[in-house]
Amino acid sequence: MYDFAVIGGGIVGLSTAWQLRQRQPSKSLVLIEKEQAVACHQSGHNSGVIHAGIYYQPGSLKAGLCRKGVAATLRFCRDNEIPYEQCGKLIVATDPVEYERMQALHERAMQNGIEVELLSEAQLKSAEPNVAGVGAILSPTTGIVDYTQVAQAMAHRLAELGGEIRTGSKVTALEESADSITVHGAEASPIEARCVVVCGGLMADRLAAMMDIEIDFRIVPYRGEYYRLPADKSSVVRHLIYPVPEPGLPFLGVHLTRMIDGTVTVGPNAVQGWKREGYGRMNFSARDTLEMLGFPGFWRVTADNLRVGLAELRNSLWKPGYLKQVQKYCPSIQLADLGPYPAGVRAQAVRRDGTLVDDFLFAETARSLHVCNAPSPAATSAIPIGELICDKVLGKVLQH
Ligand SMILES: Cc1cc2nc3c(=O)[nH]c(=O)nc-3n(C[C@H](O)[C@H](O)[C@H](O)COP(=O)(O)OP(=O)(O)OC[C@H]3O[C@@H](n4cnc5c(N)ncnc54)[C@H](O)[C@@H]3O)c2cc1C
Repeated sequence: MYDFAVIGGGIVGLSTAWQLRQRQPSKSLVLIEKEQAVACHQSGHNSGVIHAGIYYQPGSLKAGLCRKGVAATLRFCRDNEIPYEQCGKLIVATDPVEYERMQALHERAMQNGIEVELLSEAQLKSAEPNVAGVGAILSPTTGIVDYTQVAQAMAHRLAELGGEIRTGSKVTALEESADSITVHGAEASPIEARCVVVCGGLMADRLAAMMDIEIDFRIVPYRGEYYRLPADKSSVVRHLIYPVPEPGLPFLGVHLTRMIDGTVTVGPNAVQGWKREGYGRMNFSARDTLEMLGFPGFWRVTADNLRVGLAELRNSLWKPGYLKQVQKYCPSIQLADLGPYPAGVRAQAVRRDGTLVDDFLFAETARSLHVCNAPSPAATSAIPIGELICDKVLGKVLQH
């Protein structure tokens, strides 16, 4: 019998397992991941941005954890010799309406205690000669990193501390008794643990349902498609360049991202996915789709965002439409510059009434804790999220 089992080898599960092992070195721990390696899903398919925490509702868990997460991520990278760069980011307004929204965002950043500066049109031009706009917010502390490397380093640290990692081990059922939880799956014999933490990303709702937890949300997958610019365009921008986000939408809009390997990506958009872990445009899963179509929250969120959803779909299928979103603030980018780059899939928790769950969401039983929603910027915040989960779990252990 293990003291702890953590399900999910994404950055949230790894951060949690590594810190649990640090804080409770005498307790046994196993991390269970269904893929053959860690960080195969969201943690390995993202923009690689260390977000400063500008956008989030002041006082929300997202805002607080992101602020702490920046410092923790940078420290972790230094300690583990992982390359990172604080190249800074510009949120660019291209017309008076966006300028007004940008000022509101600036206010929010100040409320969140984030270091930001408002740039005039002339200051923007001098900071970024290839970017067009009427003004911008400069966030000098925003950075970039490869989160796959961060996740792999966490796995390495966990193993060094004696934590066990079982990859290629898909959990198919969970059974809780008074003394333990039995984890059934691909292994010949089930795994028993006194306490289980579930960090299942795109499968969070299914893993919660395995323990008969009453949840009023489902995970709806939204694909984020990227392109990569050719090498001769990799110095087109010096910072990360973001549009002013559409109000009410959880996604930040197609941005130009300098990657830590020196290339520049464009994206991600947000199009409806028909397979939770499907990265190709044509990927389809009958189970995922039928479950989604049978969930009232899916129809409500789709209806509420129909105009935006259709525009995203059109721009996904029609590259000139996608290009237009980038040319709005970076006119020198041309159609031929948009080279292929792998997509990501966001796990978006949607409630039965169609509201998008915007913050972190947890559910629990006597012996388990489920991370039900870990939206962006959960890669940036993974270390403080892991710390928070450890506090909750150790509190639980003390009760038994
Ligand atoms: C397109 C995109 C761009 C993003 N950009 C950024 C960014 O720039 N900065 C930022 O901070 N955040 C970003 N994010 C968000 C961030 O990547 C995620 O919030 C974070 O990676 C979530 O980590 P996780 O561990 O919860 O989920 P995941 O990484 O998805 O991990 C979940 C794990 O659980 C495993 N699992 C599921 N079911 C089972 C089962 N039955 N048995 C065993 N294992 C199971 C999966 O295989 C997976 O490895 C982005 C996300 C996307 C999709």
